[in-house]
Amino acid sequence: MNPTEPNAVVLHKLVLATDSFILRVAPEGWELPQFKAGQYTTLGLPVVQQGGNGRAQKLVRRAYSICSSPEEKTYLEFYIRLVAAGALTPNLAGLKTGDRVFLGPKIAGTFTLDAIPPEANLVMIATGTGIAPFMSIVRTHLAASGKKMAILHGCRHSWDLGYRDELLAMQRLSGNLYYCPVLDMPEKEPVPWQGRTGFVQGIWKSGAIEQAWGVRLTPDNTHAMLCGNPLMIESMTKVLLAEGYKEHTKAGAGQIHTEKYW
Ligand SMILES: Cc1cc2nc3c(=O)[nH]c(=O)nc-3n(C[C@H](O)[C@H](O)[C@H](O)COP(=O)(O)OP(=O)(O)OC[C@H]3O[C@@H](n4cnc5c(N)ncnc54)[C@H](O)[C@@H]3O)c2cc1C
Repeated sequence: MNPTEPNAVVLHKLVLATDSFILRVAPEGWELPQFKAGQYTTLGLPVVQQGGNGRAQKLVRRAYSICSSPEEKTYLEFYIRLVAAGALTPNLAGLKTGDRVFLGPKIAGTFTLDAIPPEANLVMIATGTGIAPFMSIVRTHLAASGKKMAILHGCRHSWDLGYRDELLAMQRLSGNLYYCPVLDMPEKEPVPWQGRTGFVQGIWKSGAIEQAWGVRLTPDNTHAMLCGNPLMIESMTKVLLAEGYKEHTKAGAGQIHTEKYW
């Protein structure tokens, strides 16, 4: 397969807000490789760029976490934020069902449950589209593992809370998921927001998860996965380090696992 040519097709596009959308992309004439929930691949499109020698077409590629479960063999699902001045996302936002796109044939990343002990509670903390890998994880492991899982999802507005309905349904039906959406600009809501406000760091510190579970969370019984905006990840990591949690690195095992989007 020539990895610089479009090799996949948009199966479905769901526009969630003016600046966010979900894409389901199916490979054309090749099979998706096996992967683990939490991993990412690349999407790309030929984009016209202005250079020293005039206009030239170049394949622009970016990394995207996979939202779908590895059990889904026919397509990969992605949750994408439109970055207005970005090189790729304005073009991805223009895609329609049936359009062709480059889909990276290699799926990579270590942001998976591999380093998380089966008996540990799992707290997944995301901002914006950082919820993407957690969707793959809960879709794959929530029912089968029986593990206590919590999702704290921080966004500006309610319309940025992608997958809210699915997560609320999972919370109702599963018994082992605590889902906590939190808005930091509730004053902009057209209908008053009844949920939590502020930042995910504040929700962690408030003890909301401990209250929901009736369990005291410690580095001995809990791992945290952080995904999305690097500022949230840095600030949340500081909070966790102060409570005795350690960063998980190649050099040593810890309970803080991170995936920075930029
Ligand atoms: C491992 C990994 C997984 C990723 N998964 C996702 C994903 O599931 N969904 C997704 O939308 N993006 C994801 N990203 C970010 C993605 O790769 C691109 O950086 C993003 O789509 C912007 O591309 P662009 O070419 O339009 O902007 P660029 O011209 O590359 O501009 C990059 C700038 O855009 C901003 N930015 C980048 N990503 C986001 C974002 N998600 N939300 C708000 N602002 C952002 C930052 O200011 C960044 O400096 C991921 C990045 C990595 C490294």
